[in-house]
Amino acid sequence: MKLTIGIALLCFSLILAQPEKNGGNSPRYVLVLHGGAGGWNRDVFKDSIKLIHKAGIEKALKAGTDILKAGGTALDAVEQAVKILEDDPLFNAGRGAVLTTDGIAELDASIMSGRDKSAGAVASVTKIKNPITAARAVMEKSPHVMLSATGAERFAGDHGLELVENSYFITDETLEIFRKRKATEEKKGTVGAVALDKDGNLAAATSTGGMMFKKPGRIGDAPIIGAGNYADNRTCAVSCTGKGEKYIKNAVAFHISALMEYKGFSLSQAVDYVMDTKLEKGDGGVISLDKDGNYYMKYTTGGMIRAAANSEGVWEIKIWENE
Ligand code: ASP
Repeated sequence: MKLTIGIALLCFSLILAQPEKNGGNSPRYVLVLHGGAGGWNRDVFKDSIKLIHKAGIEKALKAGTDILKAGGTALDAVEQAVKILEDDPLFNAGRGAVLTTDGIAELDASIMSGRDKSAGAVASVTKIKNPITAARAVMEKSPHVMLSATGAERFAGDHGLELVENSYFITDETLEIFRKRKATEEKKGTVGAVALDKDGNLAAATSTGGMMFKKPGRIGDAPIIGAGNYADNRTCAVSCTGKGEKYIKNAVAFHISALMEYKGFSLSQAVDYVMDTKLEKGDGGVISLDKDGNYYMKYTTGGMIRAAANSEGVWEIKIWENE
């Protein structure tokens, strides 16, 4: 009798442990990216704009997967993918970031390693060319998790990172939005990446200029570990985009991981639960990846620029449900 119950329990837990995707084959590496969730009105969004955003995210997807394919780390892959998106003026991170009410680009970014939960972040920085690289330096070269503003800039300079004038981040498009005090159509998104490498390590990275017309000094969810970014090898890696205040108050990224750790939820169950119960329509989106290589992307907005690739040949780039 005991044996029968034991076998039944074993079968049941094996069913629960089945991967949600990938047909039971755990991919050796996976990379998932986002370029922000927003209104992204399909009718207003011209095909040309759709294509250039897709081209931008594809470049980052390729660079990140090349690293993973060659046996590089998940941390290197997420940092490199996000760096490429920071350099691309189409996205709301690094060059092209939206401006504060003072007309300044103030950037936030964070990175986390699922292997040992080490993490680094910078907030409200105005001179660091690649905030995600500075976040990684904080993680690896300081005893702290987050540095902000001038302290973060001095730290980045001391560690040989490139510093630029704030005008480097400001483009004709962001200046026009600032001058008109009105974004005619949402075309800019925060960027983020989650990856699993061949050694089974997860990592997450998120970078943003924050909310359009934010008050000077406002810090969003992107640099806050557990709000907009989280990684734990035992559960998952998560990067968020959307109304930062909501993501902070609901500890969105951490709750997804915690539901998996404490309650045994699958990745999609955890994401669905948190997004369905803590967020509302229009709040934003999440990309996530579990330790077995299953990924799940969800948004409550009109669309989310997103991409995924893995060692089993997946290569997808989308803004809306099917395109
Ligand atoms: N989450 C970002 C912030 O609140 C903005 C965004 O993702 O669009 O700073």
